[in-house]
Amino acid sequence: MRIVLLGPPGAGKGTQATRIVDEVRVPHLSTGDMLRAAALADTEFGSEVRQTMASGQLVSDQVIVAAVMERISLPDARRGFVLDGFPRTMSQAVTFDDHLDRQGMTLDHVIELRADEEILLDRIMTRAQQARETGSAARADDNRDTLKVRLDAYNELTAPLIEYYRERSLLRSIDGLQAVDDVTADLLKVIGSGSSVA
Ligand code: AMP
Repeated sequence: MRIVLLGPPGAGKGTQATRIVDEVRVPHLSTGDMLRAAALADTEFGSEVRQTMASGQLVSDQVIVAAVMERISLPDARRGFVLDGFPRTMSQAVTFDDHLDRQGMTLDHVIELRADEEILLDRIMTRAQQARETGSAARADDNRDTLKVRLDAYNELTAPLIEYYRERSLLRSIDGLQAVDDVTADLLKVIGSGSSVA
């Protein structure tokens, strides 16, 4: 099962991906997590990734496409994957489609988690606050100014993918602002897995 989760920052893609991989038993591939790991390296590349992420901008299509292609070629992704955070630009989506096509693969579902921007801002500020309270490190990009840049990047570069996948009859939309369990139940209905299948 090959699934892409789309949605603005803070819509719950990471949380939901973690929950649905337990059901569909394929790896959760988060490009944000991949890049956060790359950003730890004490190299020029690591430093570039760190700066780009901290600014809220997107890293280059070339870098992320190469990383995702390599990751999905590993044996554990043979049965599929839940992609969270990729594709994020039209160029990434088209290159990804071509790649899957060449491998004789298709996506099964692209699921958009819809969410209102004001509420997202509150959610992300709460996530940062909770991280501080529990002593874990808050994400460097979870602050008001950077979030604005991340939301602008989403609206300008990623939101057009909703139409792209709708035209390919792959898109389903879910209200991402429901209770976490309800979002998961809706997701499992869409992908036809688990006890909540209608
Ligand atoms: P996320 O954890 O998905 O919110 O991603 C955090 C940051 O990683 C983003 O703000 C971007 O800087 C970078 N990033 C993650 N995925 C991508 C992608 N597909 N293309 C470009 N940049 C990305």
